[in-house]
Amino acid sequence: MSMDDFDDRLEYAAKLDREDPLAKYRDQFHIPQVEGQDSIYLTGNSLGLQPKTAREYVLEELDDWAKYGVEGHLHARHPWLPYHEFLTENMAAVVGAHPGEVVVMNSLTVNVHLLLVSFYRPDGKKRKIVVESDLFPSDLYAVRSQIEFHGGNPDEDLILWKPREGKYAVRYEDLEYIVASQRDEIALIFIGGVNYYTGQLFDLTRITRLGHDNDIIVGFDLAHGAGNIDFELHNSGADFAAWCSYKYLNSSPGSLASIFVHERHQAAFDLPRFAGWWGHNKKTRFGMRDPFDPLPGAEGWQLSNPPILPMAVMRASLEIFQEAGMSALRSKSKALTELMLHLIRSRSMSGLTIITPENVDERGCQLSLYILNNGKKVFDFLTKKGVIADWREPGVIRIAPVPLYNTFVDVWNFVNLLDEGLHKFND
Ligand SMILES: *Cc1c(COP(=O)(O)O)cnc(C)c1O
Repeated sequence: MSMDDFDDRLEYAAKLDREDPLAKYRDQFHIPQVEGQDSIYLTGNSLGLQPKTAREYVLEELDDWAKYGVEGHLHARHPWLPYHEFLTENMAAVVGAHPGEVVVMNSLTVNVHLLLVSFYRPDGKKRKIVVESDLFPSDLYAVRSQIEFHGGNPDEDLILWKPREGKYAVRYEDLEYIVASQRDEIALIFIGGVNYYTGQLFDLTRITRLGHDNDIIVGFDLAHGAGNIDFELHNSGADFAAWCSYKYLNSSPGSLASIFVHERHQAAFDLPRFAGWWGHNKKTRFGMRDPFDPLPGAEGWQLSNPPILPMAVMRASLEIFQEAGMSALRSKSKALTELMLHLIRSRSMSGLTIITPENVDERGCQLSLYILNNGKKVFDFLTKKGVIADWREPGVIRIAPVPLYNTFVDVWNFVNLLDEGLHKFND
């Protein structure tokens, strides 16, 4: 679909919904209500909506716990001992990885630390880490504290890949320049696959190749990418990645995160790692006296036996992803943001800058709209009108139409209200 195919009428958006092969999925989610009506929920990039099947899946585990107590580890309908394994295949498919490369465990920032313990290996003067500027604060804190933990100085050892003056998106040429000029000092490139603030989507393969060509380890935080982009994480060659599951992956607030460790490291038992019993050989785990014998692949990074209830929600959610498929979701997502951009442009709104790249291949579901004057007032106006979106200082509204449950009419209604709000507070 090209931009010229769009027209500006509400009827046209309604027609796209009628023709949308994924439209049926909206009914599989609880849509938050505002004054008795469906909200215009555009913040699935922050907290995804609840799949209606989640309740049943959680109740099944509560019932089995009531019925079996500890025996549920073996006798629950979905036994708890291997429960995380019921998630692995679907989670790996979401990010384009092989099942042995992925495991669900812990929460995201914990996983970032665990992976940095293994993959940030400062050696002599090769000790710097490159991150994109305006990265998510938790990642910045994690990376800085890891540098300190390894005896470095984060003010010297952290390199920010920054946008050029007056721009928001970063450019690959600038990363290439950083790497070319400091390759002997850089140990790791660690980038958010989709930047949370600008919505810029990065080319994992290109960044990985750049790193590997220069003897640099490459990892990604895919918190804003998993369930949003049809990544080919294995083929990208990335060394490691981590992501949470409560954003696009709809797995409940604060639910478990995942890691990816590329197959080439699956038997890298010489890498330092923080160990726990759930990463130990399954056959002898309950022998309880053996020295640590790590599992091959991502599973070897596990620490603890994981909580079953949030994994039950995740199981419900991932089944929907498995059925819908990431490539169909990505196609609809592109159409949703293309329609939104078209409508915004066709109304020639003033006082608005879109800081997300315009090229559809350089962004996912999210558009970040920088409102130059009275942004907070416009945002509050939208909220009152039933839009649930996300506000970031100094003036950015982040909007994410999500292909599983948002409609083209949601997009039309949002742009209409945005136009009204801008007129109200901008003149
Ligand atoms: C959402 C998000 C986080 C949140 O970390 P938690 O450990 O889940 O609280 C961290 N990093 C990025 C890039 C995020 O988008």
